[in-house]
Amino acid sequence: MVATVNVQTADTGLQVGDLSVHLPVPMPGSSPRWQAVVQSMSFSLKPGQIVGLVGESGSGKTLTGRALMGLLPHHARSEGRIELDQQALHQCTEAQWRQLRGRQLAMIFQDPLMALNPLRRVGSQLAEVLQRYQRQPKSAAHEVLCQALLRVRLADPDKLLRCYPHELSGGMRQRVMIAMALLGRPRVLIADEPTAALDPTSRDSVLDELKRACETFHCAVLLISHDFNVVERVCDHVLMMYAGRLLEQGPASSVLRRPRHRYTQALLAARPQGAQWISAASQEDTVPAVPQAKRKIPVIKGQFNAEHRALNGCVFAPRCDHARPLCQQQAPLWEKSRHDENDNTLNHRFACHFPATNGNGESS
Ligand code: SF4
Repeated sequence: MVATVNVQTADTGLQVGDLSVHLPVPMPGSSPRWQAVVQSMSFSLKPGQIVGLVGESGSGKTLTGRALMGLLPHHARSEGRIELDQQALHQCTEAQWRQLRGRQLAMIFQDPLMALNPLRRVGSQLAEVLQRYQRQPKSAAHEVLCQALLRVRLADPDKLLRCYPHELSGGMRQRVMIAMALLGRPRVLIADEPTAALDPTSRDSVLDELKRACETFHCAVLLISHDFNVVERVCDHVLMMYAGRLLEQGPASSVLRRPRHRYTQALLAARPQGAQWISAASQEDTVPAVPQAKRKIPVIKGQFNAEHRALNGCVFAPRCDHARPLCQQQAPLWEKSRHDENDNTLNHRFACHFPATNGNGESS
């Protein structure tokens, strides 16, 4: 029997509430211990918005993206709420997820060469995907595929459809993946480090395509990245993640210019051009006031360790230069950042006991 999914028409986007993902850790001589690799994530993706999910390797970004697609490893356990236009995805069966993937939610992976079948022509792979969403006569399907490639600025689509993936450049392959993901007109597009393997020129043009696709199809995009250049170029909103938890979130213009969480501040300051990014007020207590050319780039001490995920207090405490005893004892609660005392509208929030100043003298 084919499972059916009722898709509501209300265009509210994707809502994620208290999402956690647990993986088993083998224990010699006993049953596995469950470790939370994503913990209590709450955020939303609105139609027409690009949200950057940013963090170091191992922070849980990709697992979060896979949870939203119903593509977690079979041995993983998840809990929490995922709703798309008020439809509860977290209650879907695998058959229902299969109906949703591609049509409602689509994912672009980091390495298009791995995602595409090297033994089949691009046209044949795109046609197979198109057939899943729209049954078309072969001649009409060819025209639809040409239009799909032209939409992502791939010239000579007729020739390109006859190519094998290895005959295309990295940037062209990633554009093919974007075109493929958009064939089902998804409401949510999850792009997992889509430009990580590209040179800067290809990276920028692929990002521009993502932005155009978001505007054209009015879909919500979750852009997973560890690169602030990528985030700054296209994202409207930023989610900062570390050790499986969200630490700060808000409009990109606010989070990148006036970071409040010490982790965000340290990451931005560690960029070669970090001092240009952070407002003078928010960096003054960590970045010495020396000319940019002579500034020694600060590094975050230590390394991420899986044990950090299980800490009772702040997960960033072992690496934070501003940690005090309270940070180890108690997990910080979410607070709202305000750029001035009358500003109640800015949805910039952070979870830090001793945050960076916001440029207005507000430090905690
Ligand atoms: S809560 Fe404490 S340890 Fe964590 S980032 Fe803030 S100051 Fe640093």
